[in-house]
Amino acid sequence: MTFDPNNYKPAADLLKDRIILVTGAGDGIGAEAARTFARHGATVILVGRTQKKLEAVYDAIVSDGGPEPSIAVIDFAKAQGDDYQTIADAIDQEFGHLDGLLNNAGILGYLAPLEHYEVQKWLEVMHVNLTAPYVLTQALLPLLRKAEDPSIVFTSSGVGRKGRALWGAYAVSKFGTEGLMQTLADELDGLRVNCINPGKTRTAMRRAAYPAEDPSTLKSAADIMPSYLYLLGPDSNGVSGQSLDCQ
Ligand code: NDP
Repeated sequence: MTFDPNNYKPAADLLKDRIILVTGAGDGIGAEAARTFARHGATVILVGRTQKKLEAVYDAIVSDGGPEPSIAVIDFAKAQGDDYQTIADAIDQEFGHLDGLLNNAGILGYLAPLEHYEVQKWLEVMHVNLTAPYVLTQALLPLLRKAEDPSIVFTSSGVGRKGRALWGAYAVSKFGTEGLMQTLADELDGLRVNCINPGKTRTAMRRAAYPAEDPSTLKSAADIMPSYLYLLGPDSNGVSGQSLDCQ
């Protein structure tokens, strides 16, 4: 793929009239992606577990003059099949289709050797980072199929491509994410499925992983948005099964 995030110039109305769902939209990269998509014309469905954070992003989008977003509160650690279907049904009723899905929500768990990693924490991390995006995507596929140029994006990581000591369930969940993306991309016609690897980005998750790091040395979430716009917009039409680096 010849995409160069440093030289990508997205059109101002790149996402005009598109309906895009973002998970983990209340904070970090997801909040920035939601605001950026709205600035480029998308109606964004803000999905996350903390209503107040989602409402703050909603307010920011409205005060930016963007299309009025929607909010769906769901905790992926606890949600059951019906909860996912409820979101799909609500989107069907309000919009009738879905143009884009950014599976962004994720948790770090903690850094520890696998030899000592708690099985309960392993299950939680694998569930939130891998199983939940799969179940959500499965529930939303009928709505994505109704769109003209649908795009599904999963969020990977450098440790999802090469294992690294101490990254435990997080690393393994991101390897799974790459496999999920590749398998879906191979199965689905007319629907592109890709991964995005944000790279080191200044968020709460990065702070938790590297508490002693100087945050001013990191890219901000806003800095990495070109790759998100590219994958959710029409310029990546025909690109599928790829894992893109933002940095
Ligand atoms: P943050 O911790 O800043 O944000 C994560 C988001 O996911 C939050 O909005 C959080 O909600 C939401 N979330 C977490 N658990 C759940 C849950 N059980 N149900 C619903 N929502 C949940 O992380 P980042 O913005 O840094 O990360 C975003 C994505 O990018 C993740 O998939 C991460 O693995 C990936 N990534 C990040 C990198 C980085 O350097 N920052 C590098 C590589 C990959 P709430 O705010 O309510 O807790």
